[in-house]
Amino acid sequence: MIGHPVSHSLSPAVHNAAFRALGLDWVFVALDVPPGAGAGTVSVTGLVGLAGLSVTMPHKEAAATAVHRLSSTAVALAAVNTVVRRGEELVGENTDGAGFLDALRADEGFDPAGRRCLVVGAGGAARAVIRALGGAGAAEVVVVNRSRERAEVAAALAGPGGRVGVAAEAGEADLVVNATPLGMGGDRSLPVDPVHLGPGQLVVDLVYLPAITPLIDAARARGAAGVNGLGMLVHQAAHAFRLWTGEDPPLEVMSAAALGELARRT
Ligand code: NAP
Repeated sequence: MIGHPVSHSLSPAVHNAAFRALGLDWVFVALDVPPGAGAGTVSVTGLVGLAGLSVTMPHKEAAATAVHRLSSTAVALAAVNTVVRRGEELVGENTDGAGFLDALRADEGFDPAGRRCLVVGAGGAARAVIRALGGAGAAEVVVVNRSRERAEVAAALAGPGGRVGVAAEAGEADLVVNATPLGMGGDRSLPVDPVHLGPGQLVVDLVYLPAITPLIDAARARGAAGVNGLGMLVHQAAHAFRLWTGEDPPLEVMSAAALGELARRT
């Protein structure tokens, strides 16, 4: 894995637990690569004998310029979170959106098809989520963001159902997603006024530290269901694991490793 910083990442614990569970003689290590050095590091993946890379901030865009081929999702997002070595070639993929959808469907029993969704944020994670929701047939994907220009770019990724909106529209949504860092590590700010949340809604906070963010807390207090971003993290890792190893990812092991590592830090 390359990123900056990386010391907080749960990914080494998640992947190494999965390798052990399947008896694979593989290892996942996190390398702190300074900004500006991402593309150069990706380009030597094959030379140093790695099977692939996980790529996190701030290198996702640079990684997309350093591989030989991109998946259609990585092209649309212009960002790569997973590099896979296929012979001499490096292939760039982005598993964030697929991981988000898997977490929704498998862990929460929520199918976005025909549903109204509101996403706060228009950064890398938001764009992956917005495109995935549009692709999964959401009736509407309303994008709320501090800077309007980025919101417009992000909303277009959802296709015809995507549009820019305001946080007060959360009351009309079946699914509300926080894809900003608000609520992370002691921050008490809320991306949406809880007055707009209530029974029948699912609120997903992509933040997972703390495990119960202020938004999740407020959503539950208003009768909505609230979950954090750990499910997305595990499922996007599972997609990467399958791409690298060709094996079925041991989801329960990966999930337990993520929870264990999170508990160790709190
Ligand atoms: P990013 O590309 O930097 O985007 C951040 C977004 O948050 C932007 O839309 C930004 O608005 C908005 N924002 C930042 N500070 C804000 C503030 N004070 N008030 C209002 N809006 C603010 O970051 P990212 O990679 O998308 O990550 C976003 C969050 O998702 C992070 O908390 C990250 O940890 C989490 N995440 C979780 C997973 C997972 O697997 N669970 C995966 C990826 C990311 P502007 O556009 O106006 O700057």
